[in-house]
Amino acid sequence: MPGNTIFLGTDSGATTSKIGGIWADGSPISTDLYQTPTPSAEGTLAVVDGWVSGAVRFLERHGLDWEQVGGVGLAIPGPYIRYGVMGSTTNLPKTFENWDFYGEYSAALEAAAGRPIPLVCGNDGNYGAVAEAREVTKDEKGTVIMLAPGSGLGCAYVGVDGAPLEGDTLNGMEASHFAAPVHLLGVRPYPCGCGKTWGCIETYTSIAGLPMLLEDHLPKFPDHPLASSTLESKEKVLQLRDLAQHGDPLACAIFDFQAKALGIHVAMLEMVLDARFVVIGGGLMDPTATTDAFRSNYLEIVRDSCGEYLWTRQRETVKISAAVLGDLSQAIGAALVARQRYS
Ligand SMILES: [Zn+2]
Repeated sequence: MPGNTIFLGTDSGATTSKIGGIWADGSPISTDLYQTPTPSAEGTLAVVDGWVSGAVRFLERHGLDWEQVGGVGLAIPGPYIRYGVMGSTTNLPKTFENWDFYGEYSAALEAAAGRPIPLVCGNDGNYGAVAEAREVTKDEKGTVIMLAPGSGLGCAYVGVDGAPLEGDTLNGMEASHFAAPVHLLGVRPYPCGCGKTWGCIETYTSIAGLPMLLEDHLPKFPDHPLASSTLESKEKVLQLRDLAQHGDPLACAIFDFQAKALGIHVAMLEMVLDARFVVIGGGLMDPTATTDAFRSNYLEIVRDSCGEYLWTRQRETVKISAAVLGDLSQAIGAALVARQRYS
């Protein structure tokens, strides 16, 4: 591989797409965030055009050209019908079902570059974990579990080769839909958006289940303003993160509960995967959204509740830390997967 080879990564989000790039040694070309709109209302070709124009602008800004591009990675949320083809999702218009995003992006990249550009695509959460894994492992060997509580709970596993576990039907590591040990948490099994009613761990650890968590916590805080609020429960729960930053007892109790649930989930995953590193990402670990004290308290509870269930040797070695790349991780991860595949 020539020394000046680069790899690009496109992170396709519901409203904006991001682009990142890495050098041949895997280090990021830039830590600035480059974004383009994802105009899904205008159809698939408009979305793909946005990805390509993002890549073109990235190359221009860094004085790079298509000759140097050894491959492109595309991080895109599923579900997929098969590799490179979109399934049914509420994040995109109905017409995007069966969308051959791999084929369309390959063709558009070839048209822009004047030659075929190797392309690889995969789940955005998995690709984000690839980038975070590279950061956390540095020169040490080890495997990585990444958990990212947000609107749902992102779960990924990155092997010692730096590649994500994708599974034979591309549904690997859908661990957010494990049944939570409700007897340990002292809660009822919440219904989940996935259709399961066994109490998916996602509902106890992410925004998805916050309305139910709030409902179950409020009786212990009868004088709390949210107890008498007439707001919709979706709006109420969106206040909780900010309230917790100011020490609000109800909000803190809810996030402490989520951290405990996440810690137990880490322990269960460690029983299967025995990973040396655990990275916690998502909005709660975003330094622009939460305080240092909030994040360290959350991580401490995760460590405590996890540690109780680990094997002795794991207790000495498992390292739980916060993600460091923020919004850049999925684009950089996509570029890293392209590098793994095509260098
Ligand atoms: Zn579920």
